[in-house]
Amino acid sequence: MAVVIDGRETARKKREEAALRAAALKKRGILPRLAVILVGEDPASLSYVAGKEKALAGAGMESRDIRLPADTPEEELLSLIAGLNADPSVHGILVQLPLPGHIGEDRIITAIDPAKDVDGFHPVSAGNLVLGRPGFLPCTPRGILVLLEEAGIPTRGAHAVIVGRSAIVGRPLAILLARRDINATVTVCHTGSGELGRYTRQADILIAAAGKPGLITADMVKEGAAVIDVGVNRTPVFPPGPGNGAPPAPENAAGKSYRLRGDVDYEGVAKKAGWITPVPGGVGPMTIAMLLLNLIQAAEAAVPGGAAKA
Ligand code: NAP
Repeated sequence: MAVVIDGRETARKKREEAALRAAALKKRGILPRLAVILVGEDPASLSYVAGKEKALAGAGMESRDIRLPADTPEEELLSLIAGLNADPSVHGILVQLPLPGHIGEDRIITAIDPAKDVDGFHPVSAGNLVLGRPGFLPCTPRGILVLLEEAGIPTRGAHAVIVGRSAIVGRPLAILLARRDINATVTVCHTGSGELGRYTRQADILIAAAGKPGLITADMVKEGAAVIDVGVNRTPVFPPGPGNGAPPAPENAAGKSYRLRGDVDYEGVAKKAGWITPVPGGVGPMTIAMLLLNLIQAAEAAVPGGAAKA
């Protein structure tokens, strides 16, 4: 059976580190502050934003919550961001994605001052990542690197196969894993790859970031591989009722209408893999912890003369 990688515990340690550095900044009169912008009321976005704000408060940092109606014009959002860029008391700006269809996500992300781009999505951050220069790393790929390291999974000489090539997960992760200090050899799969198993079965480290529940099954995994499940898929849970065949899922008891599933068929794959991350409780908590560390990085960089790292 695979060793289960506890993302919650690793994330807790990283949040603690962020809290210590936040306390050191506070002694110098700086309160790390993140502006969190949410446009509309998408339920998943609401819950992500609430999780981020709770984590910030828990680490002694501040969030400035900005809630806007779904029909907010793009121009209004752009001028809000310009104001936050110019505000020295705001160290980071996060615009929760996805945005409503009438707003150009690329234009919004590009409008954020790269020095406050704590999500690491700005083209300047992406360029720095590709060039190997210092900058903000996107939170999910950064969190995956930390998980691999903390779990003691060897990366040097390993073959890492990533399923998914999005700009926020698959592509930046491929670049990071191929970095000289990590030294994995990377394959990136996508919907044009044909039979996925051909590639995934070669993986010493398999990262599933496709957004397709249960895509990766045991027959697609090499014995002893490390399997990192990035997928977060809300699959419906039907309320239990006489004769409707709904399982007595704990989600039902909690009154939820959905269940979170990863991209990996956890039960089957855990019997074959060497390591596995659960969903929930694997990559997700790490993403939030890395956001806190990115905010600290932004606040420390804003200190005149630089801040000593705790
Ligand atoms: P995305 O932008 O939709 O990209 C999905 C990628 O997977 C695309 O490159 C797509 O290929 C590929 N793909 C989809 N189905 C595939 C298949 N059957 N075979 C091979 N490749 C396939 O998604 P994303 O934003 O990267 O997110 C991926 C998943 O991770 C989602 O479930 C998301 O909720 C989750 N996520 C979790 C966290 C976290 O903190 N835990 C953070 C971010 C995202 P094409 O390019 O060819 O379309």
